[in-house]
Amino acid sequence: MTYLYQEQNWQSQMSDLITSPQELLEQLQLSPTELLSGALLASEQFKLRVPRAFVKKMEIGNAYDPLLLQVLPHHLELEEHEGFVTDPLGEEQANQLPGVLHKYKSRFLLTLTGACAVHCRYCFRRHFPYQENLPKNDDWLHIKHYLEQHPEINEVILSGGDPLTLSNRKLALWIERLESLAQVKILRIHSRVPIVIPERIDEELVYLLKNSRLRVILVVHANHAAELDALTCSKLSMLVKEQILVLNQAVLLKGVNNSTSVLIELSQRLFEAGVLPYYLHVLDKVKGAHHFDLHTNEIDDIYRELLASLPGYLVPKLVREIAGEKNKTPLFGASSF
Ligand SMILES: *Cc1c(COP(=O)(O)O)cnc(C)c1O
Ligand code: SF4
Repeated sequence: MTYLYQEQNWQSQMSDLITSPQELLEQLQLSPTELLSGALLASEQFKLRVPRAFVKKMEIGNAYDPLLLQVLPHHLELEEHEGFVTDPLGEEQANQLPGVLHKYKSRFLLTLTGACAVHCRYCFRRHFPYQENLPKNDDWLHIKHYLEQHPEINEVILSGGDPLTLSNRKLALWIERLESLAQVKILRIHSRVPIVIPERIDEELVYLLKNSRLRVILVVHANHAAELDALTCSKLSMLVKEQILVLNQAVLLKGVNNSTSVLIELSQRLFEAGVLPYYLHVLDKVKGAHHFDLHTNEIDDIYRELLASLPGYLVPKLVREIAGEKNKTPLFGASSF
């Protein structure tokens, strides 16, 4: 296996994802015996899906690699745990129109695709019925009407699924639609694709975003510094150079990044690429993700140390999403969560 990395068209990477646990373990030269049967069972509930470019960032032979743990199905996912449910955020109820999720006052989420480039095992959307809830082409008129009825919305967030799995042509169409409404000032894109397939930041996309009338914010999702290799950082920097605000959100995950030194390195590496840490999410209590959960006291200790170690602008806000709340809930001090 070679570590030389050739830039490769992102669409061809999307059509060549690893979906077989056996193949993933072979690529990493891991003996399949202990891990494979659990992975096969757990992948029946939520399939394995990971781009080869992301696997290349993992350490060969390390069954506890923090990137591998985020994507390899595990038998522990099959355990039932009290409080861990299929729709922890009550999103099914917040759904106003196909594709639209309006929970916070000034901004709403627009889901244009249910597809992701990677399946993160801890994802709160692992049970969400994506495919039934996507806007069709003429739903734009309903969405437009909804926006007009809610002049307090000035920011539209493309979320997912993952909006950067869409073609540039389709993104351009939706950006044009949003630009046609004067009330919309800000376009936010929440995507993990730039981390798992950095080539997605192609010239056409950069052109599209930098020429929009809208102020564009890209929020990527990396949980560990090892996800930010040289190519990924250089692609993110390209956007930063074009005045696009690039932020990162991470999820605090047992075995992956529950260590102050790992989080410090993550913030520092992001900053080198011109990206600022935005949110550090506490795990959503989704069924199948219990083994990533951390004790409140441990979270508190990690965060306290993070605050004491980094300048304020490199400390992400520690938050939890609570169903029915008007914003993400800031957490600090064990008593608050
Ligand atoms: C997280 C989220 C947002 C964005 O919240 P910010 O605090 O502005 O980042 C908007 N809508 C929904 C439904 C969300 O879950
Ligand atoms: S929505 Fe985000 S966190 Fe969830 S599986 Fe897709 S990329 Fe991963």
